[in-house]
Amino acid sequence: MPGEFDIINKYFRFSGQDKSVLMGVGDDAAVLALSHSLPGEKNSGGRLVVATDTLLEGVHFPAGMPAEHVASRSLLVNVSDFAAMGVRPRWFTIALALPDANEDWLARFSSRMGALCEELTLSLVGGDTVKGPLSISLTLMGEADGQVLSRAAAKPGDELWVTNSLGRGGAALKLLDSEKQSGASPGNISAVEKEQLLQHFYAPDCLLDLGVGLSGVAHAAIDISDGLLADAGHIASQSGVAIDIEWDALPVNTIAKKLGNPDEVRRWVLTHGDDYQLLFTASAGKRPEVEALAREADVACTCIGKVREGGGVKLHGIKSPLEEAAGFQHFS
Ligand code: ADP
Ligand code: MG
Repeated sequence: MPGEFDIINKYFRFSGQDKSVLMGVGDDAAVLALSHSLPGEKNSGGRLVVATDTLLEGVHFPAGMPAEHVASRSLLVNVSDFAAMGVRPRWFTIALALPDANEDWLARFSSRMGALCEELTLSLVGGDTVKGPLSISLTLMGEADGQVLSRAAAKPGDELWVTNSLGRGGAALKLLDSEKQSGASPGNISAVEKEQLLQHFYAPDCLLDLGVGLSGVAHAAIDISDGLLADAGHIASQSGVAIDIEWDALPVNTIAKKLGNPDEVRRWVLTHGDDYQLLFTASAGKRPEVEALAREADVACTCIGKVREGGGVKLHGIKSPLEEAAGFQHFS
């Protein structure tokens, strides 16, 4: 069966695109050139940035997850794509399929989403509401006013950086699964640590300030949704470069390390995805600027590798069986 990316490449790369499509299928968001700006204002040739992401109950979050967490996860996962473009989202539409009109659920979903929109200055401007298995599909839009960070802009000699820590997405899912199966959580982490892991699943880190700061400083960026190796692979293939990653340099989340056995932790860090951290490249000379932006945004940034001429992603310091490199794909 074809994987998610085979399907996109085979069936959804229509030819004959308008020249206004500056970046189309294949990046974290599309960038579209507008020929007119606000009435009465000089035409500034604005660029609209658009991205869509869908979350399905039972696939992207466990069945029965509280409504407020469904709201924060669906919004922040979408915001993550904008952080990876270095652009602030301003408007969005929401296509909602609901199994029933449960007003208690809707009130909690709406109140959490409304609060986040206020924090992020995001306006809900439309959508669609239908009856069906719970699914939340958001389309975020924003305006690029500087350099957009693409997956295709890494250059040989760049350093590869990752934000915060890796492994929380996989660890949180293990926690949720074991609670579902046995009603108990694994005993080797404290209640506070457990809560921290779950919070990251419910509300992934918002890295917008850092992402926007990186535009003009970094070259390429992507958010880690499919897994570190797979997402580094997207940068490598779309930039036409090779990427070397040092296992020993990876910021493995300390709670995940306690929760999983070494094989699980390795899988969570390298291939699980769901971490929604930024993976970006910047020339070595920009290191002081990257470090200053990280301090300003209060986000840890760790240099985990290098970009060189060639192709593919190579992991050093640990064996990486080939099957691990694929990352998460729907249908495969
Ligand atoms: P992300 O992991 O950043 O959400 P995806 O892996 O979902 O991105 O998608 C990869 C690229 O393919 C993106 O540029 C996305 O817009 C595009 N894409 C996904 N599905 C379709 C589709 N059915 N038609 C056109 N483009 C698609
Ligand atoms: Mg993305």
